[in-house]
Amino acid sequence: MLRLLLLLFPLAATAQNFDLILETIRSDKAWTLEQQISICQIPAPPFKELERGKEYAKRLGSLGLVDIRTDSEGNIISRWPGSNAPKPLIVFSAHLDTVFPEGMDVTVKKDGAKLKGLGMGDDCRGLASVLTVAKAFQKHKSTFNGTILFVATVGEEGQGDLRGMRHLFTKELKGQVDAFISVDGTGTSLTTRGVGSNRYLVTYKGRGGHSYGAFGMPNPAHAMGRAIARIADIQVPATPKTTFNIGRVEGGTSVNSIPISVSMEVDIRSESASELKTLDERLRAAFQAGLDAEKQRWPNSKAALDLEIKTMGLRPAAEPPDSLPIVQKAMAAAKGAGVTIFATRSGSTDANIPMSLGIPAITIGGGGAAQGSHSIDESYEDTPDSYKGPQWAALILKSLTEK
Ligand SMILES: [Zn+2]
Repeated sequence: MLRLLLLLFPLAATAQNFDLILETIRSDKAWTLEQQISICQIPAPPFKELERGKEYAKRLGSLGLVDIRTDSEGNIISRWPGSNAPKPLIVFSAHLDTVFPEGMDVTVKKDGAKLKGLGMGDDCRGLASVLTVAKAFQKHKSTFNGTILFVATVGEEGQGDLRGMRHLFTKELKGQVDAFISVDGTGTSLTTRGVGSNRYLVTYKGRGGHSYGAFGMPNPAHAMGRAIARIADIQVPATPKTTFNIGRVEGGTSVNSIPISVSMEVDIRSESASELKTLDERLRAAFQAGLDAEKQRWPNSKAALDLEIKTMGLRPAAEPPDSLPIVQKAMAAAKGAGVTIFATRSGSTDANIPMSLGIPAITIGGGGAAQGSHSIDESYEDTPDSYKGPQWAALILKSLTEK
């Protein structure tokens, strides 16, 4: 009879069987690494996550996830079937995309204790950690007082501009999600605040002409130089950390031509939404001042000089306090997994979107250690306690679904 009852009403993830879940995750350490390597050898350049996504969906299916679908943006969404209640609805996720363009060699190579591979830490580790948690839940037939969606997102990195998350939280799952956890990168970092960023492609355009023959007209390169000089002098607060950078400049035709067009890519960031807004206003004022000053330099010229500002990306900033229950629960769960959190930190991750919408959200490391994230020298080291990453994630899910 008891047996039948248990079949009909499986046990919720109790403290007792959770020890077994943690033990399973620990003993699956090598499996986690295999997943990490094999996922990483499927390329996932920005906007081209499809192939990796397909394979990831297959693996989720083999680990017992149900209702697996790819949404119109490319996110993989699946549901853990062991649920005693529809709410709270928790999204547990990692991102599919890398920063690396198409055509790069994604073979993972052993280099001493390290494994060299593009995206091995960011975010193949997160993707593998999510699968590891699923595998342990499957083995122990875990049920929760809430619903957990296992998700793999697209467009987390720079150019993607969080398009996967935007879609998820403004369309696909709009208004439904109660908490969000992203496993992104390695180690045991706990990101609780979102660094916001605004990115622009700024172009100065003029008539152009011979450097000697047409001399006397506004020069787009000079206008941009004037703007850059103003931007370089902007004072920003150290706390909340606020930064600016002109990362790329290009344009012109030849050394003896007044350019027709020059452009620059500008990135500003802040932990504070209001500081970001203030800096944005000053930045725009500097763009305009560069244009105006160059025009004034040549008052008798009728040649046009124009400014065009294109938005490349906007990531909202958010500063939820560490007193938030999700942060407190994540810290308590860290103790349970034997993970040391020295301080919470701010970052630019998938969690920015829910944070900015007031939805409890955190980003955690997936364990292990990585170096050279976003570089062609990226490497990962599977430290002896790397399993603590997925263990920590599992404990957070348990805690968030406890009444
Ligand atoms: Zn990442």
